[in-house]
Amino acid sequence: MSAVPADYQPRADLLAGRTVLITGAGDGIGRAVAEACAAHGATVVLLGRTVRKLERVYDAIVDAGHPEPAIYPMDLLGAAPTHHEELAQRVDSELGRLDGLLHNAGILGPMTAIERYDPDQWARVFQVNVHAAFLLSRACLPLMRRTGDASMVFTSSGVGRHGRAYWGAYACSKFAIEGLSQVLADEVQNEGRVRSNCISPGPVRTAMRAAAFPGEDPQRLLTPREVVIPYLYLLGPDSRGLNGASVDAQSR
Ligand code: NAP
Repeated sequence: MSAVPADYQPRADLLAGRTVLITGAGDGIGRAVAEACAAHGATVVLLGRTVRKLERVYDAIVDAGHPEPAIYPMDLLGAAPTHHEELAQRVDSELGRLDGLLHNAGILGPMTAIERYDPDQWARVFQVNVHAAFLLSRACLPLMRRTGDASMVFTSSGVGRHGRAYWGAYACSKFAIEGLSQVLADEVQNEGRVRSNCISPGPVRTAMRAAAFPGEDPQRLLTPREVVIPYLYLLGPDSRGLNGASVDAQSR
C-alpha cells in the first residue's frame, strides 16, 4: 500500500529546525535517509554501531553545508533499557527536541529452515530488529510528544507481510514490527501529537540485500538515495494525520 502522494516532492526546508534520530545511519538506506534529512534542514542524530561509518556520514553532511549532525555510537544488540533512556535524555539536554525517529537498523540473520534455526541467532535478530525498536520508542515517546507533531517510522519488509521459506527470524521480526507500529499508532491516535507508521523499502542496493540475494545483479536495483522521498514524507510535517499505515517505498 502507498499512502505517499504519487507526485510528492519535499520542499527544500521541509525539516528545518527539526531533529531526526536514525538508527543504522552509517550505511545503506539509513545513511541515505540521514543525508537527505540533513539536506532538508534537519539536525540528524546518527545512531549506529560502527563509529568509522558514522564519521563518514557526519563528514559528508558537514562538507555539504547542512546542519551539523550528532553521532551516537550504540550497539543495539547489547543495549539495555537504561542505555535507550540515556540516549533520549542526551537528545533532550543537547538538542532540546525530537521530531522524527526512524527505526532502520536491522540484521538479516541466517537464511535457513525453522527446524535448523539456531535459537541464539533467532534471539539476536529479534533483539536488534524488534526489542531495540520497542526500547527506543518507549524511551523517546515523552520527548517526541512534547513537539506536538512528531513522527515515528518503523522499517518493515515484504516478508513481514507474507511469510517465506527460510527467512526465519528476519521475516518474523518484520511481522512483529508491523504489529508494534500498529499498536503504538492506536495508542497515540487520540492525542494526535505523535504518529506511527511503517515503511517497506522494497529491493534496494545494500549490503543486506546482497547477502540475501547473492546471485542478483545489484545494478538492477534502486540505490538507497533513490528511495528516500517516502521516508522524508513520513518523517516530515507533510504526513501529519497519517497514522497506523504501512507504506511501500517503491509503489508510489
Ligand atoms: P544495511 O546496509 O545492512 O544497513 C543496516 C544498518 O543497520 C547498518 O548501518 C548497520 O550498522 C546497522 N546495524 C545492524 N546491527 C546493528 C546493531 N546491533 N546496532 C546498531 N546498528 C546496527 O541494510 P539496509 O538494506 O540499508 O537495511 C535497512 C533497513 O531496511 C533494515 O531494517 C532492513 O531490514 C530493511 N530492508 C531492506 C531491504 C533492502 O532491499 N535493502 C528490503 C527490505 C527491508 P553497521 O554498518 O555498523 O553494520
